[in-house]
Amino acid sequence: QVSDNTFFKDLLFDFETATQHSDLKVINAVYEPEVLLRIDRFHLTTALLNILENAVKYGKESVEIKVETAVQNGQYTITISDNGIGISEKDQKAIFDKFYRAGDSNVHNVKGLGLGLYFTHQIITAHDGTIRLQSKEGKGTTFSIKLPI
Ligand code: ATP
Ligand code: MG
Repeated sequence: QVSDNTFFKDLLFDFETATQHSDLKVINAVYEPEVLLRIDRFHLTTALLNILENAVKYGKESVEIKVETAVQNGQYTITISDNGIGISEKDQKAIFDKFYRAGDSNVHNVKGLGLGLYFTHQIITAHDGTIRLQSKEGKGTTFSIKLPI
């Protein structure tokens, strides 16, 4: 449970500091109002880091990630957008499944188990939240997470 309001800003700072990438830009539009979220800080951190790490793994040479938060209809909304390779409509349907990896995941020699987003989905759902994505191949992907306040 958090009563301070630096959770996402701290998480983004740590991510940016720890990520080795020659051309990474994180646009931090995080707004942390005085709302109280009941969260498992450890697991939610891992869940959000999975999304941020994927944006780098499945990104192009120049990676731009935009993170925005807002309060909408009594829910805390987190939006994470990247300018990466995108996910086809067919792959989007199965993206939260255990061990699922998109068709050409190995094109960039990117290793993974296909567990990251499965785990992220489980964690968000366990918080009574929702996670959705919008993506366009070659353009990028946006994940929208909603958590109850
Ligand atoms: P790991 O278990 O190490 O996270 P992974 O990254 O392959 O392995 P997920 O994080 O679950 O597994 O992602 C599943 C698949 O979805 C990836 O293999 C990749 O094909 C695709 N994917 C995930 N995030 C993105 C993204 N931001 N842009 C493009 N493709 C993505
Ligand atoms: Mg992953």
